[in-house]
Amino acid sequence: MTDLDRDVDAVVPDERNRARPGRNHAAPPLPAEPLAEPGKALPLVFTAPKRNKPARHWIDLTADERTQAVVDRGHKPFRAKQLNHQLFEKHNTDPAAWTEIPAAARDQLAADLFPSLLTEVSTQTADQGATVKTLWRLHDGSLVESVLMRYAATDTSSGRSTLCVSSQAGCGMACPFCATGQGGLQRNMSSGEIVAQVIDAAGRLGRGEVTGGPGRLNNAVFMGMGEPLANYKAVMGAVRTMTTPGPDGLGMSARGVTVSTVGLVPRIHQLGDEGIPVTLALSLHAPDDELRDELVPINTRWKVDEVVDAAWDYARRTKRRVSIEYILIKDINDQASRADLLAQVLKKRGDWSWAHVNLIPLNPTPGSKWTASRKSDEREFVRRLEARGVPVTVRDTRGREIDGACGQLAASQR
Ligand code: SAH
Repeated sequence: MTDLDRDVDAVVPDERNRARPGRNHAAPPLPAEPLAEPGKALPLVFTAPKRNKPARHWIDLTADERTQAVVDRGHKPFRAKQLNHQLFEKHNTDPAAWTEIPAAARDQLAADLFPSLLTEVSTQTADQGATVKTLWRLHDGSLVESVLMRYAATDTSSGRSTLCVSSQAGCGMACPFCATGQGGLQRNMSSGEIVAQVIDAAGRLGRGEVTGGPGRLNNAVFMGMGEPLANYKAVMGAVRTMTTPGPDGLGMSARGVTVSTVGLVPRIHQLGDEGIPVTLALSLHAPDDELRDELVPINTRWKVDEVVDAAWDYARRTKRRVSIEYILIKDINDQASRADLLAQVLKKRGDWSWAHVNLIPLNPTPGSKWTASRKSDEREFVRRLEARGVPVTVRDTRGREIDGACGQLAASQR
């Protein structure tokens, strides 16, 4: 166990070290309104149960282990390359399609090294077929979802496609506005289970099954179910496979992969050490500790200043601009004073556009009293950030009608 593991694992669920008044010395006074919806107060859970791991899959093996596995079964080493090619370049998950491999060998290799990881339960589409949400059943019955979004080319940008992937069945981070967070953590997903979602999406696009004709998968964002940095090892294994050039990996560009986190500070530093410059997204949602303690409970462990410092350091080291995610919740975190404070929190660390703010209108979870901000408040929030030179965009709300939008993924069979 490393020191980082110890630091992350040492957090006891109920250690809710609440913000003391007056912590943010530089902050303008903020409205101290009571929260309209405390949510279910759930404990923070870092350590997923070890049970129910899937069988080891080809994707989980290193390049050397793959060759060895093939040789151990009496085949020539080049079969490993053929299998990689089928899986990572052709996205063929059905062994019957691996026609350059003799049928008997193919069947044996598939049975031994390609256990079934994901079973499709249902697929729903929205936005004229350009948004596709898939509900998957894992081998132990856990349910997870992934959402594929395709954007048509415009005059100013070429078309692109993004897959929102899950990294855990459920989530232990207990954010009160998030459907997944309110359901608790079932277990970590394996690298194979994570990458299998990506291979499926790349395959659908390649075969022309998604509105817009045959295409490629450009981006993958760890914004589905789970806290990716709480499942660090499997997520990094998946990222490596996704960014390794073919035939050994999916050949995606690192900048096309976004890891989104509530802010596990030691893990953000560790991610910066990896030398794979993925895009980091930080779910900040409030610029002050008092409110962030409520909205993102991990803030009781790592405060706004610490987590923004870690994000800034990541940007400095990787030269990748960090995305600051900020949900807009009506009358909770959308006041003009919070926009000013957010700009101040980001700008005081440097004026080189190291961060970009991505505002997300809240997608209310079922039964939630909270709603998205008024359009006028949203505009004022944007205006105040822009006035201070902070780059800002407002996220579109793809897939809302199929519960495929941010924060709506829940492990229930609909
Ligand atoms: N655990 C990671 C990744 C999963 S959530 C994280 O928190 O970053 C991906 C993004 O969706 C996060 O920014 C999260 O805060 C946001 N989100 C969660 N619930 C939401 C909701 N109900 N409406 C809008 N965005 C939501």
